[in-house]
Amino acid sequence: MVSHNIRLRIAVPYMILILAAMGILSIYLSRVTRANAVQELEESLLKQARAVAEVAGPLLQEGGEPEELDPLARRWAELLQARVTIIAGDGTVLGDSDEPYATMEGHALRPEVQRARLSGSGVSIRTSETLQNEMMYAAVRVPGSQGDTPAGFVRIALALDLVEARLVRLRNLILKAAVATTLVAFVLALLIAERTARPVRRLTDVARRMAAGDLEARLLPRSNDEIGTLTRTFNEMGEQLREQMTTLAEERARLAMVLELMADGLLIVDEAGQVRLLNPAAARLLEVTREEALGRSFAEVVRHHELIELYQRCVERGQEEAATVDMAQRNLFVRAMVTPLRGVERGCLVILQNLTPIRRLQTVRQDFISNLSHELRTPLASLKALVETIRDSALDDPEAAHRFLDRAEFEVDALTQMVQELLELTRIESGKIPLRLSPAPLHEVIAPAVERLESQVERKGLALGVAIPPEIGPVLVDAPRISQVVGNLLHNAIKFTPEGGRIDIWVEPEAGGDYVIVHVQDNGVGIPALDLPRVFERFYKADRARSSGGTGLGLAIARHLVQAHGGRIWAQSRAGEGSTFSFTLPLANGEHEAQEARA
Ligand code: ADP
Repeated sequence: MVSHNIRLRIAVPYMILILAAMGILSIYLSRVTRANAVQELEESLLKQARAVAEVAGPLLQEGGEPEELDPLARRWAELLQARVTIIAGDGTVLGDSDEPYATMEGHALRPEVQRARLSGSGVSIRTSETLQNEMMYAAVRVPGSQGDTPAGFVRIALALDLVEARLVRLRNLILKAAVATTLVAFVLALLIAERTARPVRRLTDVARRMAAGDLEARLLPRSNDEIGTLTRTFNEMGEQLREQMTTLAEERARLAMVLELMADGLLIVDEAGQVRLLNPAAARLLEVTREEALGRSFAEVVRHHELIELYQRCVERGQEEAATVDMAQRNLFVRAMVTPLRGVERGCLVILQNLTPIRRLQTVRQDFISNLSHELRTPLASLKALVETIRDSALDDPEAAHRFLDRAEFEVDALTQMVQELLELTRIESGKIPLRLSPAPLHEVIAPAVERLESQVERKGLALGVAIPPEIGPVLVDAPRISQVVGNLLHNAIKFTPEGGRIDIWVEPEAGGDYVIVHVQDNGVGIPALDLPRVFERFYKADRARSSGGTGLGLAIARHLVQAHGGRIWAQSRAGEGSTFSFTLPLANGEHEAQEARA
């Protein structure tokens, strides 16, 4: 469209110019030719009149008789193919080729005759009164014998029809030539317009491609004129555009990456209250997908009245609002900040900081302290009771005093053990006990624990089976630590299995190939399903009444040690039927050895 318009804009003025020029030229040419033709005719008619005057002159000077002159006029008219009139000095018609001379009026006042009287010859063009068509009259004077009064006049007249026909033919020729020239000029004008418009069209094409996103589109400058300069400027503009777009894209990518990797949830809500942006952290916190959230209202996306109120407050007051929000249904505890946006984008920026882990830690610490106080209270109370009893009544009875002191010692030992275990657990948890990993055969890890507890097994009359397939290779562990784990599990199995029960320790390779699984199974009292998930927590005891003497820390220590080795620990049990505790250990294959070497 554009190129067509520009072509027309160039071509149409050209055409108008050509038309005007040709029009003026044609009119001028036809005028000039007509004037020329008339002049030529005048001259030739005058010449003819002079020729006739040569013959008729002597007759007129002798006082010429119409009987002689009229036939003369007719003869000459035949020769010249024109009307011939012979007129006396006073204007009387003495002979005429076309009309009977006797009936004709005097011709003294005819303009051509008057002019010939004055200057020797005269021409006039007018409509003939007798013949009623346009004629040219040319008259010459025949001088008289005594000088001043003329003897008469000879006049030749010709109808202009013939001349006009010739002129029309000529005019047609001129017109045809003009039309042909105009047509050729039109074609040329179109060609020139096309040539001028072509670079513009090419530029338009490239601009269109750029607009469609092809920023590599360039044009070769073909000339040094304005179009060439325009092309070069255009290319430079394209280059700058591309650079700017690249910078912009890089910045966007960087921003997107920050948003993507940001731990805090971030949302942008527009003025209409619709979510315009949300990062993956926000999507995770609010349990929505990006597609679901974008374009929906903030309230629909967050589905939490406190957050919605916070947002509304921010919108109403136009200032930053912050609050900690407990999203109980989603087990989340977040700090929310809503800030009004006042830049290009109007609306609100919402930041959701997940405080759940911190909150959980706080809870764990509080639980720990209350558990610890609780655990300390019982032995301390019984110690206090023992001391009071000794002071009040047993000082005189050495035997009883001895018994009470034994009981007090037992309580102190239990307290000491608990404090030691706690200390150990804390040190493992804080990573203060470095693991000395080295490849060790499994029996070297399991045997010490079994040996240590063998007497207890025997005392309770339990059957203990240990099965380690010989084909299983060494594991990469801190052997005394894993021994401790096995010891803890075996100790529990002994504690929670009635006399005559059975305990089995066995090892199997894990499906993946990099780990082995160690199982410690008993057919003792088992663990109620409700307690099972919690037995690895600190101070957790499934059945407080029955679990005498334990601290509730053994499994917590075992879990930490196994996890420090990169393994997992879990329990399966059914109340009354026994329990199986299992954990995994890494095999000392090439990969682990390499890891160790690096460490
Ligand atoms: P404790 O010192 O009380 O044994 P643990 O952390 O070792 O502390 O064990 C936590 C609780 O798990 C125990 O009090 C007990 O209720 C339960 N438990 C652990 N092992 C067994 C088992 N083999 N059979 C039944 N219950 C067990």
